Amino acid sequence: MADALLILQKYAQRLPSSLPQSILFSHSSETLTIYDAYPKAKFHFLILPRVKPQSELSLKDLDSLKSLLAGDKTRAKQVIEALNEDAMILRKEIEDEMMKLYGFKWSIYIGFHGAPSMHHLHLHVLSSDLCSSKLKNKKHFNSFHPKLGFFLHIDDVLSWFEADPAYFTRMAALEVREYEALLKKDLFCWKCDSVMKNMPILKAHLQKEWDEEAAQAKARAERKRRFQERYRKTDVQHSEAEPSDAHIDKKQRTSTENEDVR
Ligand SMILES: [Zn+2]
Ligand SMILES: [Zn+2]
Repeated sequence: MADALLILQKYAQRLPSSLPQSILFSHSSETLTIYDAYPKAKFHFLILPRVKPQSELSLKDLDSLKSLLAGDKTRAKQVIEALNEDAMILRKEIEDEMMKLYGFKWSIYIGFHGAPSMHHLHLHVLSSDLCSSKLKNKKHFNSFHPKLGFFLHIDDVLSWFEADPAYFTRMAALEVREYEALLKKDLFCWKCDSVMKNMPILKAHLQKEWDEEAAQAKARAERKRRFQERYRKTDVQHSEAEPSDAHIDKKQRTSTENEDVR
């Protein structure tokens, strides 16, 4: 058990090339992006800062968000910004994969746990569906609930640095007991706020809402496709005498003229 809690710390010190492909997704000079071993959504990754022999920050500094924020503020901000930059790239990659696999994209959460269970700072990047067989209990769900407060969105954490120092100190304290209490709160859907009696009901509800979102997105794409097809047909009828290239030229001229009028 203790070993499992230290696994991220071990990864962070290893050469990325020594990590198996089943674990490592990508890396940069400063970070590693790995697959969450127990994904709580259709897409779930962790981004962690690497620790190299010459690193200025020690394993102890990087143990958690709390330990990082307790140290030098400027350096802490740099570490979080570096994680955020990689998260932006990863988000784009996840969205591309969503389009490829499901034909639409949905929101992605990027944040830290207020009271993490595993050692070594790590940023969670996961899709908002929270549909996964690994999401089994209230603690799992509440720890990723986007409105409950245990899951700290990275943009919020970055905003603490800009707030007045007293606010930063209060937020940076990250009292374990305070955060752990949030995990025991009653279940409610993050999307429609409905109270959920138990996990099976919640899981079925999340699946239903994601299925509906998928159906709506597909219907929207289909409407757009039909509209474009129809528009193309009308276009062809109007331009019978003209070669298509000339027609496009004419259209471009028209739109320029419109711009001039405005
Ligand atoms: Zn975590
Ligand atoms: Zn709902």
